Amino acid sequence: MDIPRIFNITESAHRIHNPFTPEKFATLGAALRLKPGTQILDLGSGSGEMMCTWARDYGIRGTGIDMSPLFTEQAKCRAKELSVSGQVNFIHGDAAGYVSDEKVGLAACVGATWIAGGVAGTIELLARSLCTGGIILIGEPYWHRLPPTEDIAKGCLTNTISDFLQLAELLVFFDQIGYDVVEMVLADQNGWDRYEAAKWLTMRRWLDANPADELADEVRAMLTSEPKRYATYTREYLGWGVFALMAR
Ligand code: SAH
Repeated sequence: MDIPRIFNITESAHRIHNPFTPEKFATLGAALRLKPGTQILDLGSGSGEMMCTWARDYGIRGTGIDMSPLFTEQAKCRAKELSVSGQVNFIHGDAAGYVSDEKVGLAACVGATWIAGGVAGTIELLARSLCTGGIILIGEPYWHRLPPTEDIAKGCLTNTISDFLQLAELLVFFDQIGYDVVEMVLADQNGWDRYEAAKWLTMRRWLDANPADELADEVRAMLTSEPKRYATYTREYLGWGVFALMAR
């Protein structure tokens, strides 16, 4: 079981697989006022940076599930590196439908809400693992500027404009499904640059090392076109944030 190989190639050197920087995760961890021993469930935990650093800085404990064997292995290595292997557990698997045996104080899906068919479905799934009064964390894109045309939305690698809401609309949506938004930390363009531009050097090095690979032509084409596409579309139109929610 794995995610499409192209992501394991382009994001192999990423510790954070979204437009957040280490500073943004530190800001979010502080904003959430995490108590030592808080149990976290993280669906789509990637390379585990959020839980590993929060385990180190705030003494949280937790479980992460991710479908990429590579990212899961990297998460385990990171936990060892930060001496938090006794606090966090990373499982390779499909997070769709995953409900924890014991209820957690914080249930997160940071940049992988397709796991349960979108934001609403993911909140419902996370809620099944959450103790009363617990916090749900959702990391999700929003339109920072509404694309004037569907072509521009496609340039941002979305299917259609209606795939995402604008920030205020997303906050209204959380309200409408019965949640208080109790915190939020938003990515900025520097964070987007770290996420997107870091792929370019990874792609270039991978191409130099794997010229005969079956994905070499695809990666070559991406490396040529991505900087311009990113600067023209995603960087101008797409925002991203993590939203902390509590059921009303
Ligand atoms: N939350 C992480 C990773 C976000 S990227 C971070 O902030 O860095 C999205 C992640 O979802 C990737 O790591 C990908 O491997 C994982 N993923 C995709 N589909 C999945 C599924 N069905 N179950 C579990 N993980 C999945």
